[in-house]
Amino acid sequence: MFQEELLRWYKQNARKLVFRQKKEAYSIWVSEIMAQQTRIEAMLPYFERFIERYPNLKSLAQAEDDDLVKIWQGLGYYNRVRNMKRCAIQCVEQFQGQFPKTKKELCKLPGIGEYTAGAIASIAFDEKVSAVDGNVIRVFSRFYHITDDVSQMSTKKKITELVNASLTEPISDYNQALMELGALVCIPKNPRCAACPIQKECQSYAYGDADSLPVLAKKKPRRVENPTFYIWVCQDKIHLKKRSQKGLLAGLFGFDETLPEAVEEKRSLEPYTHIFSHVEWHMKGIVCFVKEKSEDFYSLSQIHDKVSIPSAFQPFLKQTEKIIKEREKCQKSL
Ligand code: SF4
Repeated sequence: MFQEELLRWYKQNARKLVFRQKKEAYSIWVSEIMAQQTRIEAMLPYFERFIERYPNLKSLAQAEDDDLVKIWQGLGYYNRVRNMKRCAIQCVEQFQGQFPKTKKELCKLPGIGEYTAGAIASIAFDEKVSAVDGNVIRVFSRFYHITDDVSQMSTKKKITELVNASLTEPISDYNQALMELGALVCIPKNPRCAACPIQKECQSYAYGDADSLPVLAKKKPRRVENPTFYIWVCQDKIHLKKRSQKGLLAGLFGFDETLPEAVEEKRSLEPYTHIFSHVEWHMKGIVCFVKEKSEDFYSLSQIHDKVSIPSAFQPFLKQTEKIIKEREKCQKSL
């Protein structure tokens, strides 16, 4: 049976990841949400910072929104961290500051889908349920040579049924072993079949076409937008405003999309393209020096220490910072 080989391999090859050291629901949840769009190695420093600042559901439930967004800066998809706070509040109000212990109950919490619920329930609470993420879909589509489009619900359902039928104790190790196999061996391109513990029973290996699976229908091309941002600067301070609560980067700090009234000097910035999952921004930036300073102007140190600027705006922020410093130098030398 492939499960035995897989578990043996996992014991010898699992990465020693900080959130796996203790079987604890909060750490598992935070790591799973962070890892949804970020490589494990890249998310580790964020994970450690987050756990230090918010060590449990109670502290997260009381977090200031701006602090929370600041600590998440760099991970993107800010709705995830907003949902985490909502989830923490619900756990404090309904479950005495703990997570419920079953996949079914976990699925009812904000921001927790089938996969994350399965991961928490099986790893922290040893519930015998599946946790099917992209890695597991890839492993199973190859292992059982499934040639249907895995973006279709029907294919995902079929794979989940196969995973459910394969579940083995200890469930915590088994689910993590499947994820780890997908992350380290049965990788998207050039799977390392020679080093694979379940190669003997793998149908795609037998067919010799593992590289062509899983089948994924072509995505629709991204929508292209061409926004122009006006970066209002007064002396060494930059104007920032919160974006609308709807649409891209909702509720986060950004630059203006309107020209200020009395512009003393304008400087064009190097254009920058930012890629979101469904949209591409081909951005233009113009620094506008103004005399009058209204509210909502921030010094560079305030921006670095307290304000979270989404990565889409970081290149313009860096260029603006450089311009401000050069201008100050020029003015001092006059
Ligand atoms: Fe994936 Fe190759 Fe292992 Fe099959 S043998 S599960 S294709 S790594």
